[in-house]
Amino acid sequence: KHLVQASILAKSYSTEASLQKDDDKGDIHSFKGHDMLAPFTAGWHSTDLHPLVIEKSEGSYVYDTNGKKYLDSLAGLWCTALGGSEPRLVAAATKQLNTLPFYHSFWNRTTKPSLDLAKELLDMFTASKMARVFFTNSGSEANDSQVKLVWYYNNALGRPDKKKFIARAKSYHGSTLISASLSGLPALHQKFDLPAPFVLHTDCPHYWRFHLPGETEEEFSTRLANNLENLIIKEGPETIAAFIAEPVMGAGGVIPPPATYFEKIQAVVKKYDILFIADEVICAFGRIGTMFGCDKYGIKPDLVSLAKALSSAYMPIGAILISPEIHDVIHSQSNKLGSFSHGFTYSGHPVSCAVALETLKIYKERNILEQVNKIAPKFQDGLKAFSNSPIIGEIRGTGLILGTEFTDNKSPNDPFPPEWGVGAYFGAQCEKHGMLVRVAGDSIMMSPPFIITPEEVDELIDIYGKALKETEQKVA
Ligand code: PLP
Repeated sequence: KHLVQASILAKSYSTEASLQKDDDKGDIHSFKGHDMLAPFTAGWHSTDLHPLVIEKSEGSYVYDTNGKKYLDSLAGLWCTALGGSEPRLVAAATKQLNTLPFYHSFWNRTTKPSLDLAKELLDMFTASKMARVFFTNSGSEANDSQVKLVWYYNNALGRPDKKKFIARAKSYHGSTLISASLSGLPALHQKFDLPAPFVLHTDCPHYWRFHLPGETEEEFSTRLANNLENLIIKEGPETIAAFIAEPVMGAGGVIPPPATYFEKIQAVVKKYDILFIADEVICAFGRIGTMFGCDKYGIKPDLVSLAKALSSAYMPIGAILISPEIHDVIHSQSNKLGSFSHGFTYSGHPVSCAVALETLKIYKERNILEQVNKIAPKFQDGLKAFSNSPIIGEIRGTGLILGTEFTDNKSPNDPFPPEWGVGAYFGAQCEKHGMLVRVAGDSIMMSPPFIITPEEVDELIDIYGKALKETEQKVA
């Protein structure tokens, strides 16, 4: 049983099929190995295999340099919500580039697109009242900035000891020093001397993996809230500044919260005067069927991080929403100090803001929420129908985000040996059949563009089914 060609599996993410095609064209040498230190890429990927070079995008599809077409089931990196060829976003960028390609937002100088976008975001976010928007270039910078804002706030309030952050195991909040520290994924910490000492991690709310025998989802949530409270008491509530959470965990494997989780967690956080930061970088703007993840789970955050679908990824931009209470304190403190000395050259970049404004306009005009909610059941039900596969432990998701975890015996406690590379093999089969998925160990993640059509969902399910069958045969 389980005789798997480990070497092929482990290194198979770029498929043999596409390697062959490159060979035929004689261009493999130009791509094999390259000059980039590529993000989140293993050393052997850069030296043993050529990268998959994407050249063009069209709706829900991307094309490589050989002209091969792939259904982009992850929407880039959970971000090209409007797909890869929205002409209005190109026009918005072009118009802004022709008018004012750059001006900054320091020292009370700014640009109209950044002011308009700030206003629009405050109007759109209704889960709790927000007073100001701070712009960044990415989700990582947004979460880094959250930590600085919270420290500045607590210093202003004369609470210099209230500085620790609590995040969750398996969370992903970015890869800068601070956002990687907040993240709860060991790979982001190993050999980077992280996490920073002010970051604590509490339980991952993954019911399937971590519930006790006979424990209901509600009981599981109660236990996790109790564990959080115990951690806060142990550390001293006067030392804990904020709690940060993604409404649905993304890169950690797509983990929607168990029933009553956020209700119970928020009660604990509130009891100890700890701020709640919602990392909406993946969830915001419709991904899970509500405009924000906070809307779906009754989260009333003090601070919110945004990025990705904010501009449908056509331009880099991130943002933080700041509650009136926090803003008032920051405002008066910066008056005392003469400045709020935090910001980036490209905070509120006019081209990024113009593209984001147009993106939000399109979401409204095309009623993107209705579109997501119409297509989501087909996507979720179609894929969850594969749940009885003997090599699948769990398929989970909501709206247009879904994760598959491969395990043996349908048990969270029986992982396949990592050297088998089961997830990588499945990913390679998808790629061979013309679909790109996110592979992380034996977890597979998908978050297609909001504009995916019913026919494209059929194709996605069909390719998933073929790749699953091939992976089952290989593993069995
Ligand atoms: N927060 C979440 C929830 C994310 O998923 C990501 C990226 O995937 C980030 C933050 C970091 O965003 P960026 O890659 O734009 O820095």
